[in-house]
Order: sequence, then structure tokens, then C-alpha cells
Amino acid sequence: MQLINNLFSQLTTPKKVIITMHQKPDGDAMGSTLGLYHFLQQLGHEATVISPTNWASFIGWMPSINTVLDYERQTDISNELIENADWLFCLDFNTLSRTKRMEEVLDAANGERILIDHHREPQEEKFAYGISDTGKSSTCEMVYDFIINSGHADKITSEVAQCLYAGVMTDTGSFRFPSTTASVHKMVAHLKELGLIHAPIHEALFDNGSEARLRFIGNVLLNRMEVFYEYNTALISIPQQDLIKFDIKTGDTEGLVNYPLSIEGIKLAAIIIDRGEERKCSFRSKGEFDVNTFARTYFNGGGHFNAAGGATTDSLEKAAADFKTAMAEHRKELSTYTF
Ligand code: 5GP
Ligand code: MN
Repeated sequence: MQLINNLFSQLTTPKKVIITMHQKPDGDAMGSTLGLYHFLQQLGHEATVISPTNWASFIGWMPSINTVLDYERQTDISNELIENADWLFCLDFNTLSRTKRMEEVLDAANGERILIDHHREPQEEKFAYGISDTGKSSTCEMVYDFIINSGHADKITSEVAQCLYAGVMTDTGSFRFPSTTASVHKMVAHLKELGLIHAPIHEALFDNGSEARLRFIGNVLLNRMEVFYEYNTALISIPQQDLIKFDIKTGDTEGLVNYPLSIEGIKLAAIIIDRGEERKCSFRSKGEFDVNTFARTYFNGGGHFNAAGGATTDSLEKAAADFKTAMAEHRKELSTYTF
């Protein structure tokens, strides 16, 4: 993988470009791809954003979201675009398998794959150019750096700014996680100087849910959460029946895993959701507990030091039991509570 800076001189030559992200995109994945899309369009590129799957309605406000293809629904046209692309930007994921059913065609593409990502252990051999930096708060911050470093700061339009702000804000937990560096605040200050109006973005992202979703959260916290004080750990297990009963859609469970961390002393929070085809897990920690390694070791996943995920085809009961066994194996680290 060559340094992404080696691409800068080619940016002004229009190309056929596709931009993609991990499945079930979050604010950072969709914000970074659409931010880059609005940027590349101004340089005359023929760009298309393709999501491997559908996405949550809370990102439905992003500028040009209606041009994004859903690979699962628009497979043929997506395949054609992928096969004919000169450049394939891969944003906010480290391994091609994170694009689910798109993996094969992405891997076989003739064009150059370009990585912009902040997850650990990227598949560097798959990319012609790229940048992978786990020290970065978000892929949106990295797209911002890409635009600035390539000498095109004048192309940060309102659309670009809105998309990039959404991702940097959500991936830093509204600027509270340790990844919120001075450069994050400088970036946001710059976007504000350019005229970004941030309050409506918070509203669109966080104050747009259904009544059923809020009642679902109430049910989850009351009936589906176990707290293991001796391990400073909490586990939420959600049966598929709950998702059906409360009419839960893609994205409605986003952020749920963080709730247990608001209990004093809790330093590891886990959620396992029965999505039918698989049991999807999310892990969050505070301080020194490495959930990236935990997710890799026990749940076939990965992510960041304090935020990771995984999946299993085992039953919900088995997955929850396995989690408790894994938790017990880490008794020493978990029971000593330090920041
Ligand atoms: P979330 O829990 O919000 O789905 O994901 C937290 C972090 O872990 C994200 O950075 C996400 O990309 C990563 N992640 C989530 N699920 C998986 C997975 O199944 N495999 C890997 N490698 N990473 C995951
Ligand atoms: Mn991200």
C-alpha cells in the first residue's frame, strides 16, 4: 500500500470512482463517504457511493443520501460500477469482509483500491494507496485531512462540512472519548468558521426516533440487562422477539451498548442482539480494558481498543454464556477498577 499522498497529483484528472464503507453504515461511515463524494464531484470525478447494506433512518438527512446505492437491493448496477471503476475508495473499514456480500466483487475489481480508515490491522496488501491511522478519531477527520493535505481546502462546501461533522461528532461520542484530540477541535473550529450550523445535525441524529424505540430501550434496560458488579461488567441480551414486538429497524439499537457505562464503576459493557441470521455483539470499555482483542478472541470480530464488535451463529443463550465465561477469564483485569 503506497502513501495516500502519492495520489494527490492525480486528483485533478477526472476518473470513474466508487466510494464504499462497512455494512450497516454508522454516522462516520456514511459521513466520510458522502463527504468525500461531494469533494470529488467538484474536481470533476464521476463518483458513486455504494453501501453494502441498508442504513439507519437517522442518517437519512445527509446531503445526497438519495444517490447512495444499497448493494443488496441494487446489486447489478453496483457490480457494473465496481467493475468499471478506476478508483475504489474504501472508507471506515479495515478488511474487505466488512463489506459482506460485496467482498468478492470488490476483491476482483480491476481499479485501484484506496483505503482511508482508523481500525486496527488493515489488509494492506489489498490496497494500492491508503492511510490507516488508529490514532484518528474518525474516518471523517481523515477525509478532512485528505482534503486539506491535497491542497483543496477551498472545496469544503456546506455539504462536505455537514457530512464530516456528523461522523467526527458521532465517532467521538459527541467529543467525549479519549480520541478527541486538539486536531479534532481545530477541524470543527474550521468547519464552524466556514459557516457550519451544527445544532440541526445533532437534532437530526439524536432527536428523530420513534415512540416505540424509546419504549424498547425502557424494556431493554428493565428486563434484558444483567450487571456483574464483581467484574465491573454489564451485559444486555436482546431476543429477536423484542425487535419484532417494538418494530425495531436498522440503527434503532445504535448506542444502546453505552447505557450500562453510565452505572458507577462499570468498565465493560456488552450487548448481544439476535438478528435472526446471526447474533451481533458490541463491546465498549472505559480505561485499560482492550475490547478489540476481546472481540477478536471470543466473537470473531474486532474494532478499536475501547469500542469493538463481533458476531456469532450460536444461539443467544450460548453467546451470552460464552460472554460470561470470557468475562470470568478476565476476572483479574475487570475486578480491579482503575482509570
Ligand atoms: P459497533 O459496536 O458500533 O457495531 O462497532 C464498534 C466498532 O467495532 C466499530 O469500529 C466497528 O467497525 C467494529 N466492529 C463492529 N462489528 C465488527 C465485526 O464483526 N468485525 C470487526 N472486525 N469489527 C467490527
Ligand atoms: Mn469510524
